[in-house]
This record gives sequence, structure tokens and C-alpha cells, in this order.
Amino acid sequence: MSATPKPVYLDHNATTPVLPEVVDAMLPWLREHFGNPSSNHAYGYRTRDAVAAARSQVAELIGCQPPEVFFTSGGTEANNLAIRGVAAANRERNHIVTSVIEHPATEMPCALLEKQGYEITRLGVDEVGMTSLSELGPVLCVNTALVTVMHANSETGTLQPIENIAAAAHELGAMVHTDAAQTTGKIAFTVNELGVDLLSIVGHKMYAPKGIGALYVRSGTTVAPQLLGGGHEQGLRSGTENVPYIVALGMACEIAQRDADTANERIMQLRDALWRALSEAIPGLLLNGHPTLRLPNTLNIRFPGVSGNSILANAPEIAASTGSACHAEDESASAVIRAMGLAESEALGSVRLTLGRGTTGADVDIAVKSLLQAHRIESRS
Ligand SMILES: *Cc1c(COP(=O)(O)O)cnc(C)c1O
Repeated sequence: MSATPKPVYLDHNATTPVLPEVVDAMLPWLREHFGNPSSNHAYGYRTRDAVAAARSQVAELIGCQPPEVFFTSGGTEANNLAIRGVAAANRERNHIVTSVIEHPATEMPCALLEKQGYEITRLGVDEVGMTSLSELGPVLCVNTALVTVMHANSETGTLQPIENIAAAAHELGAMVHTDAAQTTGKIAFTVNELGVDLLSIVGHKMYAPKGIGALYVRSGTTVAPQLLGGGHEQGLRSGTENVPYIVALGMACEIAQRDADTANERIMQLRDALWRALSEAIPGLLLNGHPTLRLPNTLNIRFPGVSGNSILANAPEIAASTGSACHAEDESASAVIRAMGLAESEALGSVRLTLGRGTTGADVDIAVKSLLQAHRIESRS
């Protein structure tokens, strides 16, 4: 008997594996070069240079200047710093606009500010999961400190109209933050094209390790630090730099810059092949999210009359999820899918399949077979 093969990994929006090239880049900074980047001797210079090089790699990918990149412990910290930091530095304004489809790392800081007296407006989304620009216009005012809307939603993959949001917000002098955890390395963009003042990057969604991220802060934007200490990262984020992980994030950005277009084109073709095979075989199968303005790796589908959890339970050959990893233990339907106007019973049929650099044509064949088999079992029961 052979060992059970590992299931095909189709959950890249929850986390990605670390690329071998990224591991290779970070290892010397664990094994040999241990100096504190703040030290004024050869050991310190060495790691300081490595951090500077990584900062340039991140800046290059998103089209900003290196001093506008601040390393953090990940996406949660980057979002908290952006939202709480902008709020604290602009106390004369007490209104924040966000959306109903944000990651908890955005929603929770907004909810805390709401408890503390801020007015929070949460924009709704349309039937393909796009935030409503028509709702934004009337709520923006001279008291709006910040508009924070994610660049793409991790469940549906739907891209959000950040350029339009930023233009509208700036007319009233509000700052604009976007959580680009899901788009960095998946679609090409620059901070100037988006028009944002702050942007969050997450290492473990783009083939670097968990526990590293970055916040882009446009030069001239006032943000109050949320971690106080030795004044690292220009005083905005104290704490001795995590050199190996910073090097890893830099390398992941360099790789994305080098070949993301080709990689993502290939991934998108596989994803579309997966959708074609499933939708031809399963009558009434529906797509959640925007048909084209969507992450190239994301396929969120809805099985009519069948629960997504049961489908996945009967498809052990694949590892996927019904919604975001943050709510996986919860049996109720995804709030993101519900926000698109679907009933609980409809939303419960959703399954999210997210492909990545390691996904092959053979993986897609396995996934199709497995899901069709699961659907046959479930529609009989
Ligand atoms: C993963 C993710 C985060 C959180 O990043 P961590 O590094 O896990 O804290 C925030 N926002 C989005 C959209 C994400 O996908």
C-alpha cells in the first residue's frame, strides 16, 4: 500500500508556500549574519545593508521610494498601523470609511475606533462583490480622516475600484489606505496608479514566510506610531528588524517583479480550465465574484442546493475552503458572500478554490474529478 498522497493545495489566498529561492535568500541571515542593524560595526553594517536592499526591492515592486516602505510583523500590524496611526495623527477628523467585506485586521481596528467615538461608514457591495462608489460620494466629508478599502477581496477575488475611491476621498482631504495583501504579486500595480497614501503588503500571501509584511506610507502622510521603543523604521515602528524575514519579503517582491506576469497568466489559464470543466459538468453551478475584474488565481463557485462544507468533506483529494481561513471553524455562511445579496442558504453552497505558482494541469484534473465525485455524492443524499 502506498502512503496517501497529500491533497492538491488550492488555498493560496489563505497562505502560500515559501518559494525555495526565498528560503535560500534568507538562510544566510539566520546562519551567519546575525548583527543588529542598529550596531555601528561590521556586523551591524552587514544586516543594515540587507534591510536597505530589501526595502528597495519592495519599493521597486509597488513603484515608491524606499523610505516610504516600513516593515511590520505582517498584514494585521500593517493595517492596524495605517488605521489607528492615521486616526491618532489626525484627531480633528473623526470619520472613517471602510467596507463590509474587509479582513478582520481592518474591521476590528475600525470597530474599536467606533467604540471610542469615531463615526465609521461601511460601504456595501454589489452582486459581484464590488464596493459601491455611489455610496461613497455622499458620505465623504471634511471630517473624513481615512478611507480604507481592500484592493481585492480574498474570498471572491473581486478587485475594488481603489483609483476612483482615492480620487473622491482626496477631494475632501481624506487619506486613503488599501489592504493589498491579496493583490501584491498577483496583479501589477503601483501606488501612484492606485492613488493611495498607505498600502499593506503581506509576506505569506506572496511566497515569503508568515510574520512579515510592510506598510507603504506616502511621503508627507502623518501617521502616529503604534509601537513605541527604540525608534526603528524612522520612528514609525520600533523593534529590532527581523532581518531574515525582511530579506525574504524583499526576494519575494523581486521574484514577483521579475516574472509575475508570466506566472499569473499561466495560473489564470489553469483557473479558467477548472471553471470550464466544473461548469460544463454541474448544471446551475455559479461563479461568485466579478467575471473579469478579479484576481487571476481565484475561483469562488456556488453549488446550488448543496453545502460547500459537505462538498469539501467529500473531496479529500483537494485542500480548499468555503471562505476565509479566519472564519473556518464557523459553520454559518460567509459574510462576504452574504453581503453580495445572497440568502444564507444560497451562500452556504460556496467553495473557494485558489491556485498558485505550484499548481499544475494535473492538479486541476484531480480537482475536477474530486469535486464532481463529491457533487454526485452530495446531490444523491
Ligand atoms: C492575510 C491577510 C491579512 C493578514 O495578514 P497577516 O500577515 O496574516 O496578519 C490582512 N488582510 C488580508 C486581505 C489578508 O488576506
